Amino acid sequence: MDTATGKRDCIPSCDSCDEPAVYFNPGLQRHLCERHLCLDVEHRVIESVTSHGMVHDGDLVAVGLSGGKDSSVLLSILCCIVPERWDAEIVAITVDEGIAGYREETIQSAVSLTQQLGIQHHIVTFQSLFGKTLDSLLGSYPLRACTACGILRKKAFSDAAREIAATSIATGHNLDDAAQSVLMNYLRGDFERLLRDSSSMEDRGFIRRIKPLHEVNEKEITLYSMINGITGHLPECPYATTAFRAEVRTLQAAIEYQHPGASHRIIQGQESLSEQAKKTVRPCGAVRYCATCGDPCSGPVCQACGLLAGLKK
Ligand SMILES: [Zn+2]
Ligand SMILES: [Zn+2]
Repeated sequence: MDTATGKRDCIPSCDSCDEPAVYFNPGLQRHLCERHLCLDVEHRVIESVTSHGMVHDGDLVAVGLSGGKDSSVLLSILCCIVPERWDAEIVAITVDEGIAGYREETIQSAVSLTQQLGIQHHIVTFQSLFGKTLDSLLGSYPLRACTACGILRKKAFSDAAREIAATSIATGHNLDDAAQSVLMNYLRGDFERLLRDSSSMEDRGFIRRIKPLHEVNEKEITLYSMINGITGHLPECPYATTAFRAEVRTLQAAIEYQHPGASHRIIQGQESLSEQAKKTVRPCGAVRYCATCGDPCSGPVCQACGLLAGLKK
């Protein structure tokens, strides 16, 4: 104990004020207190949104709100920073996949957050869109749960966003998610996906997807949500442990722990590769439209309709 200041010696002070630090930012090489950590996170989101032109005047931004901490923090920050800077509206969309024992709690958390923030909230269900819950769909199909769920959830968000004439869909993907996706594409040898430039998707008829938290890591989001009392503890999806991503997450977390900042460098490397590839790889072919639902896609039917047709057989 330092008798002059009354502080415990083992807790370093914030590099921006005298408060005790709660976090060390490896990129900035700075210790941050609760207040300065939150300001730093918000600053990075504003930087991302502004520099990538994610929000424009007149936009209706649909935030994909699962009720978990990433999307809840995203919605809270956007509701705080967007109205001050742009003439744009924010609404939330929650997709209820129908996962027994998991979804009820997260949906309740999503409902109370949107009520607190005073924004419109649309809830769509797999049952109403696809005629079955995820649990019942998976009962008859051997495909990995998270792959099937991811394809159908993306379709559900697109349909719901189109229904309300949203101009973009904001998702809570963070820095760790992005680094894991790069590693997964490498490990699968899926170089088309690795090098894909998502900014070209909008030109091909898809609703623009934005990821305002892509420069914020999971630890920072967890601390931000705890400090601001945004969500309590929510259960993990029961299917999450079956996913390839769960294995890659363990690997990525270990690399980041041993080599702070590695996740950021993984993404920077992918962006450089993607830039280089643009100069040499031929552009995507003409956009096609799904024969079943009319969504833009690369084959005769979209992934969701292909998956649903497979399930019916
Ligand atoms: Zn401070
Ligand atoms: Zn389709």
